[in-house]
Amino acid sequence: MTARFDLIVVGGGPAGLAAAICGARSRLSTLLIEKGQPGGRAAHIMQIDNFPGAGCTTGPDLVSRFRGQAEALGVTFLQAEVSRLEPEGPFKTVYTRQGVAYEARAVILCPGAEPRTLGVRGEERLRGRGVHYAVADSAAAWAGRDVVVVGDGDAAVAAAVHLAQSARKVSLVCIHSEDRMDACPASLAQLRGSSGIQVIAQTAVEEIQGEGRVERVVLRSLVNGERWTLPADAVFVLAGITPCTDFLRGSGIHLDARGYIIADPETMATSVDGIYAAGDARRKWVRQVITAAADGAIAARSAERFLADEELVNHELLGPADPVLAVFWSPADPLSLDVLQQVEQVAGSAGGRVHVVRIDCQQSARVAQRLGVVEVPTVMLFHRGIPLATLTEDFNHLADWVAGHMPARI
Ligand SMILES: Cc1cc2nc3c(=O)[nH]c(=O)nc-3n(C[C@H](O)[C@H](O)[C@H](O)COP(=O)(O)OP(=O)(O)OC[C@H]3O[C@@H](n4cnc5c(N)ncnc54)[C@H](O)[C@@H]3O)c2cc1C
Repeated sequence: MTARFDLIVVGGGPAGLAAAICGARSRLSTLLIEKGQPGGRAAHIMQIDNFPGAGCTTGPDLVSRFRGQAEALGVTFLQAEVSRLEPEGPFKTVYTRQGVAYEARAVILCPGAEPRTLGVRGEERLRGRGVHYAVADSAAAWAGRDVVVVGDGDAAVAAAVHLAQSARKVSLVCIHSEDRMDACPASLAQLRGSSGIQVIAQTAVEEIQGEGRVERVVLRSLVNGERWTLPADAVFVLAGITPCTDFLRGSGIHLDARGYIIADPETMATSVDGIYAAGDARRKWVRQVITAAADGAIAARSAERFLADEELVNHELLGPADPVLAVFWSPADPLSLDVLQQVEQVAGSAGGRVHVVRIDCQQSARVAQRLGVVEVPTVMLFHRGIPLATLTEDFNHLADWVAGHMPARI
């Protein structure tokens, strides 16, 4: 039998771990599927000093605390790669590469992004032989060597600063001019405060050369087209990212032209009901541990709301055999409060044959929207899942209205 959960989280980086923590805290049975080790790219960051409350820490330390918290809350961890998603229907099905299916009523997609390759000659051949896409070792491993870092965002600057602690020479090759680099001011201040880094601006890597290992890179000036060769023992490519969303193609989840998931920035809702996206794989501006974790928390809250609303509609509103009076109200609307009371009185005089369901339109805007309710208060009468009548005014005659629309035999 297919294992079922309330919530499945795909990806165990900061976004996925935060989503799982918040989901589990909301008492949702939560499965987190991660193809590698939980922690994501953050597990490779040597130094993090922009996560409030964590002080100056390392990526592995921070994400191990995320993971510990998720485990303590009862999140189920599964090591597997998700290869397909079937999002339609009340249960969404997530398939792993091994062909195993898992079902959940809500899914949060947090697959993150991978480093972008340069696509230049020699890069693929020398991958792992001096061409790297993350700084996995301590700086001491590069003592006395010449290294080239490619990129001009925070990740590239952080890598250059880290490597400069012991490398003989660090060359930071970036496509923009020095005053237009993508890195934030704090990173740029670190760069300026670091000795031993040569910034080679407005320059592209054209080729990576070497017999069996990286020996040099061929650079080209973007100002005058001049080419020259720079000796190097290693090249760290930190020139942007591409989202890991190939498995979503054909699933109905909207992606932008670069493959990022398009999600509502307020709720993290994707184009498919009950599916949310968080973290670096989402189309957004700032990609950091803190924004990934914040996305995850918001997505989990939205998923929890979605599940509560589904329960409300399917079981309380459309499920009962007896008539249901649904009151769409808002705590901020005084007339709503009067109408709520009147509806309770009318239902009371029906001797328990009529159920009252209160729908707070601030909390459950999706339910109101789904049922075509555009104003508060609104009262709707349902019988066996069918809307029989809608009242939006003249609430003084509520009892007559109910009597006039009540099904003949109940
Ligand atoms: C070198 C470097 C330095 C950085 N420095 C900082 C910093 O100092 N401060 C900061 O705030 N941010 C920093 N960042 C950015 C930060 O790492 C990311 O913004 C953050 O990790 C994004 O979290 P995420 O959960 O969205 O994605 P990720 O961390 O990428 O995690 C995604 C996870 O999903 C998994 N996954 C992907 N596809 C699948 C699939 N199909 N099935 C199952 N699992 C899947 C992956 O294995 C991965 O573990 C840095 C990044 C780099 C590369």
